[in-house]
Amino acid sequence: MKMLQHKFVEFIPHKIEEGILYISLDYCTAIHRCACGCGNEVVTPISPTDWKLSFNGKAISLHPSIGNWNFECQSHYWIKNNNVEYAGRWTKEEIDVGRVQDKNHKTQYFECDQSLSELPAKPIKTKARIWSTIANFFKLS
Ligand SMILES: [Zn+2]
Repeated sequence: MKMLQHKFVEFIPHKIEEGILYISLDYCTAIHRCACGCGNEVVTPISPTDWKLSFNGKAISLHPSIGNWNFECQSHYWIKNNNVEYAGRWTKEEIDVGRVQDKNHKTQYFECDQSLSELPAKPIKTKARIWSTIANFFKLS
């Protein structure tokens, strides 16, 4: 079983190291390199409509599972207590259903995004990078 090491950071670093799950609470975002080893960066925004992060003082879990349908590897896994647990691959139909549900869920929570503008000012460059990463992530989805 593969382990990830978590690292709380203020800013997501430029170089994402393999095997490390970076968590920025300031930006409500976690990022890691795909657990299959393909090297793709997986961005998991933490919000009521995205992923939920739990930290038991020693290890991190993310919910729901991470489905990298946009990558060639198509890997699908859970991060539970820093362990990578591989989940079954979804069929194309299952992926489509998941996407529609996600979209509906997103519209309902849309106003929550407003609170982000109340966060203290941060260097624009980093913020822009993170948000463009997230934007790209959703564009690809
Ligand atoms: Zn992969």
